[in-house]
Amino acid sequence: MELAAATYAGKTCVRVLDEDAPSTSSRGAPAHVATVASQVADLIPPLSFEHRPGVRDASGRVGLKNLTLPELEEWCVSVGEPPKRARQLFRWLYGNKKWIRNLDQADSDAQAFGAAFKAKVAASASLAGGLQLQSVHTARDGTRKLVFALVSGEGEEDAGEPQTAREGAPGGPPLATRGTVETVLIPMTNRQGEKLRYTACLSTQVGCAMNCQFCYTGRMGLLGNLTTAQIVEQVVEARRFLAEQDVPIPIANIVFMGMGEPLNNFDAILATGLELSRNKIIVSTVGLVPEMRQFIASRAAKLAVSLHATTDEVRDWLVPTNRRYPMAELLGALREAFPYDKRKVWYDEGRRLCGDRVRAAGGLNDTLEDAQRLLALSSDIYCLVNLIVFNPHDGTPFTRSTDEAVRAFRGVFLSAGRPCTVRTSKGDDTMAACGQLGDTSISTRPAPMLRPPEALAARLAVPPQLGARPPAMTPPAPVMPAAAESAAGGCA
Ligand code: SF4
Repeated sequence: MELAAATYAGKTCVRVLDEDAPSTSSRGAPAHVATVASQVADLIPPLSFEHRPGVRDASGRVGLKNLTLPELEEWCVSVGEPPKRARQLFRWLYGNKKWIRNLDQADSDAQAFGAAFKAKVAASASLAGGLQLQSVHTARDGTRKLVFALVSGEGEEDAGEPQTAREGAPGGPPLATRGTVETVLIPMTNRQGEKLRYTACLSTQVGCAMNCQFCYTGRMGLLGNLTTAQIVEQVVEARRFLAEQDVPIPIANIVFMGMGEPLNNFDAILATGLELSRNKIIVSTVGLVPEMRQFIASRAAKLAVSLHATTDEVRDWLVPTNRRYPMAELLGALREAFPYDKRKVWYDEGRRLCGDRVRAAGGLNDTLEDAQRLLALSSDIYCLVNLIVFNPHDGTPFTRSTDEAVRAFRGVFLSAGRPCTVRTSKGDDTMAACGQLGDTSISTRPAPMLRPPEALAARLAVPPQLGARPPAMTPPAPVMPAAAESAAGGCA
């Protein structure tokens, strides 16, 4: 057996040139194999993506949909294929109307891949996306919620096979092994009401650990992280679905605003490498400051920061992450990264939250004082303030702001010459709108409702059901339309 070393992207890669086996040991295994295998193990540097949780499946095969294009090139070289094979495979996996599930599907187009490459993929890799479309719910406004089951195999024969538990990053959340994943396709229309394109709102986790008090996903607690493949597959499956339905409208924007806090699954989202310009992708966070700094430095996509309150007192309650990273630290990081008039960050001032009685008492976070405070806090940050109206779900103590309150809030910004948009609420009749995704019935340890600050509790005539298990999901009664002046829909 002969070994050859080559370098690729500064790394040494080794491949076997001659596999003739000269002898076998008394135990039946080729005697030279163990020796050579250990030599190879010593010579081959680990592939650069090996550290990423979930990059290999339970049987050790590399999930190729977990890899960016440069990483796919690296893998191809490691199995003795030229980098161009990676670009060819990338086109078949993600290219328009291809979206293959296995390499045989590519054969319909003039034997795209040779037998040798197929054998290498079969031996050590997988094209599985880890999801299977389970159901589609279409809202009155055309928003579609796609619900996926987690699966371990590739192709229909493996569908439904439960995944074995797998570890996540050291000290980080485990990989999700149960539950469902929800993706929302939000139609964007022109003034004549014609659908022009879809925005795909992707989930990055099953459930969420952040426990934002107004969010249905947060009530589930965290069941686990999705792999890069499972995040990318949401877009692939959505495109397959639209093509099957003969819907000729493209998915032109992607927002990471579905189930989960994207920056709590940092490595997986950074590797998605979706084939859209980074201006077409927005990643949303509630303010994990260290990861946010890293994300900004990566320049991978645009950023949205969900504030939800204008004081630490209220934010500590509504967004418990604020107790770790208070507003001064969060806004300080944004100020540093996006000083006014240099670059741009989008952030959401958050859902306008108020309890029934709170509205009578002046609102939780939608008062004119809140608007003026936010105007001052954000005056030296280059940003667009985007208002999201709270979308109710069963068991929540919060209700929506009035249209008047939203208009008055926005008016404070417009009078100061600052842009401010109001996000149209879409899909709320199928629990597909902001903060409505998920299924709390599968949670064994739902997140607790937290006690509001005393000053606010006094204004809530009926206190929230503190510590109560959230009820199972049922579609809410139709709600009044949001005071939508502009901007996109989306999820948590
Ligand atoms: S709003 Fe986002 S970060 Fe907060 S609980 Fe919901 S999904 Fe998690």
